[in-house]
Amino acid sequence: MANQGDHAFLIQEVTKKFGDTIALDSVCLGVETGEVVGIISPSGAGKTTLLRLLGGMLQPSSGQVSAGGRMVSQFSQKELLSRRRNTGFIHQSLDLVPELKVVANVVAGRLGYMGIWGALRSLIWPCKEDLNRVYACLERVALTHKMFERTSKLSGGQQQRVAIARVLFQDPSAIFADEPVSAVDPARAKDLLELLVRINKETGKTIIVSLHNIELARKFCTRLVGMRAGRIEFDKTATTVGVHDLEALYELEARS
Ligand code: ADP
Repeated sequence: MANQGDHAFLIQEVTKKFGDTIALDSVCLGVETGEVVGIISPSGAGKTTLLRLLGGMLQPSSGQVSAGGRMVSQFSQKELLSRRRNTGFIHQSLDLVPELKVVANVVAGRLGYMGIWGALRSLIWPCKEDLNRVYACLERVALTHKMFERTSKLSGGQQQRVAIARVLFQDPSAIFADEPVSAVDPARAKDLLELLVRINKETGKTIIVSLHNIELARKFCTRLVGMRAGRIEFDKTATTVGVHDLEALYELEARS
């Protein structure tokens, strides 16, 4: 069995069921701090479930999930909360509030750290320190000039960058992106993945991204995990993933 201490995340023999549906079936996966891991699969193979388990939003039906060298089942409530705060999620839908200014959407990245009144105050009257930090996060995504713009006025690509700035403001040690580019054109998809990889290089944050586009996955991730029907079919260095691996993933789906 793998050594827990070597991994930022480790799941061992994890099965996750939703009623009669087996979303994950005896999955084992270890991710080291600072890796850029791509998860590729046909739809319904368990990518989102895997990310949610790694991020502490779901509990396994059986098996062990560890984070930072400790079994999550032994975490206190406080530790579970802190673990969730330490994992940033970027969803395909972005989850921004279009009516709010960009600055408020970015500040929302830390609302989980505050009580209700602190959260409201930060959204409506962010303090100088928050404003400076928002500026620094927007600088990373080249969007400082839109800081006080209403979010709905931004283009789709710019809104994606706001979602990344929000996760940077949250300052987690790992960023999980769940099919972040499946609804965008190829140029925007490339920009977004380039940005995530740059963030990984500059900050050392672990990045796990689920993708449909194999070429992008091979280009931007260092390691690729291929899933089918709740199981890991391969787990290899991205450059060694070949046509046969991919055919197996998608052909098997067609047969099942
Ligand atoms: P992917 O992200 O690869 O598309 P998912 O992890 O979303 O796959 O889903 C894997 C399987 O688990 C699918 O059959 C899906 O319908 C099922 N599933 C996921 N979440 C739930 C849920 N909350 N309730 C019931 N079934 C679910």
